[in-house]
Amino acid sequence: MRDLERAFAEQITSGEFIGGSSVRRFEEQWALACGTPHAIGVANGTDALELALRGLGIGLGDEVVVPANTFIATAHAVISTGARVVFADVDPVTLLVTPASVTEALTPRTRAVIVVHLFGHAADVDEIGRLARQHGLFLVEDCAQAHGATWAGRPVGSFGDAGCFSFYPSKNLGALGDGGAVVTADSALASAIRQIADHGRSTTDRNSHVVAGRNSRLDATQAAALSVKLGHLSTWNEQRRAAHATYQRSLSGADGVRLQQEPAGSRSVYHLEVVRVVDRERVEARLRAAGIATSVHYPVPCHLQPSMSCAAEPQSLPVAEVAASQILSLPMFPGISDAQVERVCDVLLDSVAVITTRVGGDLTGVS
Ligand SMILES: *Cc1c(COP(=O)(O)O)cnc(C)c1O
Repeated sequence: MRDLERAFAEQITSGEFIGGSSVRRFEEQWALACGTPHAIGVANGTDALELALRGLGIGLGDEVVVPANTFIATAHAVISTGARVVFADVDPVTLLVTPASVTEALTPRTRAVIVVHLFGHAADVDEIGRLARQHGLFLVEDCAQAHGATWAGRPVGSFGDAGCFSFYPSKNLGALGDGGAVVTADSALASAIRQIADHGRSTTDRNSHVVAGRNSRLDATQAAALSVKLGHLSTWNEQRRAAHATYQRSLSGADGVRLQQEPAGSRSVYHLEVVRVVDRERVEARLRAAGIATSVHYPVPCHLQPSMSCAAEPQSLPVAEVAASQILSLPMFPGISDAQVERVCDVLLDSVAVITTRVGGDLTGVS
């Protein structure tokens, strides 16, 4: 809190509100954290995705593969470039896209694949990266829920042609407002993104606009706040992992409830703590009655959203559709106590026991 106040005061005194040293400093710190040569601050996570795709030259006539179960922004970013979305179904256990599910979504028009490290779990970016290279496709990682997660020991965001982050306040690394970043090893892509985000300005003449760009900037005050908060990211992620371990202990072996496990290869950062239950609405209601807030990420898979009706072919993606009716996000934040987690689990197990006895639902076939 003190550190944030000091950072803001310095920012106000400096008079630098757009660009400047705070943005450069955070970009350097974030590139280092992600193990990539470049980080480009942008206005939000959706812009990070759109600008990465545009920087890669994706647009009208192209198709981009997107997981069916992600926040809708992943798909909307594709639509903004003029490209079409083809959704990929997900693995029934990890709820992440796999090489097989991505392969099914490929057509001769596919130019890129977006992998989403959903809920803070890293997807298999080694295998999917190999697949993308084989087919001459770009790989873009949506890391908006996975700041600090690793796959095979390497930070997410460093595997694809571009890694896209959101710093929306509730993310693992959140600003005090909107913010986003693209990380990449590709210098030409980094320059292209900077140019699009700065009104398409020529690098040599400020008054010459060489592409039809736009304005997408990370505010200097947000960059200053992010530098302060970045110092705490690994501690906060460890606290999330410890809370997950408590959930795991309390729920292991229980009937009628399945915890999203850490996939082999992923060191997950538990942006969300997701379980699957039958008769979710009743479980939610019982938790709510006990004063426990839950939510659902996301109740409607992207391919069934009205906004997709003219931007993607109708698709049937059974794993994502079944999962959407069963997933429930339990309380998860850095610093949640063991006692709080145990109370959530007690109420959850009671609710599930009552409900499964009554309706006899089961979770077989999905996990
Ligand atoms: C939050 C989020 C985004 C969008 O980020 P904004 O900063 O809100 O634009 C994109 N993809 C995923 C998976 C997200 O969780």
